[in-house]
Amino acid sequence: MGKVYLDYAATAPLNHDFKDALSFLANNYLNPSSNYGYELKKEIELTRKLIAEMLNVSPDEIYFTSGASEANAMAIDGFIKTYKDYYKIVSSNIEHSSILNNPHIYKYIECDKDGIICAEKCNYYNSLYCIMHVNNEIGTIQPIKEIAKQVHSVNSYLMCDITQSFGKMEIDLRDIGVDIATASAHKIGGLKGVGFIYIRKGINISPIVYGTQEDSVRGGTYNYLGIKSLMYAIASEYFRPEWNYVKELTEYLMNHLLSDDIVLNGSRNNRIYNNINICIKDLKISSEQFAYLLEEHGFLVSTGSACHSHDSKPSHVLKAIGLSDEEAAHSIRITLGKENTYEEIDEFIKVFKMIYAMNR
Ligand code: PMP
Repeated sequence: MGKVYLDYAATAPLNHDFKDALSFLANNYLNPSSNYGYELKKEIELTRKLIAEMLNVSPDEIYFTSGASEANAMAIDGFIKTYKDYYKIVSSNIEHSSILNNPHIYKYIECDKDGIICAEKCNYYNSLYCIMHVNNEIGTIQPIKEIAKQVHSVNSYLMCDITQSFGKMEIDLRDIGVDIATASAHKIGGLKGVGFIYIRKGINISPIVYGTQEDSVRGGTYNYLGIKSLMYAIASEYFRPEWNYVKELTEYLMNHLLSDDIVLNGSRNNRIYNNINICIKDLKISSEQFAYLLEEHGFLVSTGSACHSHDSKPSHVLKAIGLSDEEAAHSIRITLGKENTYEEIDEFIKVFKMIYAMNR
């Protein structure tokens, strides 16, 4: 591509080992559910087991989907189909659009100015709470264990979108007390168009895609290559030592970037280690123009979440933490990954400062 990629919250480069194996794996065109497709089905089951081990749940609580958006729809719509006479859907005002746009949401809990959802606010009885783990725009980490405890104390369930944290930090769903969780493969080096939902045993989610696969909870021919890409992305746990590297690199960038004029959006402490979302003060150009100039110099960053970066409306997350339209229009998101190097970041700092100096 020739550009330095600094937008890992949008998606991640395809896992290198998977890329190398791709043309070989592509020979496996059989339908894994066919009577002769058992070898492929075995690999799918192994992937399910690996995911379950990572999250400390049981493999038969994991169902593959076409990604986190479908999994989020399945969590809410499938729950409503089963339990609409007993439960309502409550969410937060900083969720991903695949939750926020769901018409079944009854109430939105507001985050504080740091972008954190306070557990005590989860006090509606008989509800499914849909609260994300890590926010995709400002990277804030929700106190999900406290939230789970509170939610259960009001006779409710917790569904948690872990798309931005899965594979990036330790997550023990059993310990936290999450009832339903959703994630996507492409944020950690898998293919786009594959993800999964965890449904704790005892919760009855009705299908929204009908069929016989996945215990009839989610129909559709298995996306063998997609699921295999997820296996590659998680199998070797190779990424664990790299969490620290990315953390240190992000801190290095943050230390060189933040000042009285360049201010972090969202909590500094309760934040995933690879996310910097900043408001650039006294800027004469918009963040879109700023990002475009960065791109011209070889750096890709985001002016919001990739899901709506074509949208000129200010980000709902930045508005939710109290930024004005003007401040939101001068904010950018930089998210790092293991492929980034110190040399790239040094060059980025230089270019960023030069563009800023010329446009303030
Ligand atoms: N939830 C969150 C928090 C996300 O960041 C994304 C991807 N932008 C999604 C859901 C949707 O994932 P997918 O692309 O797999 O549909």
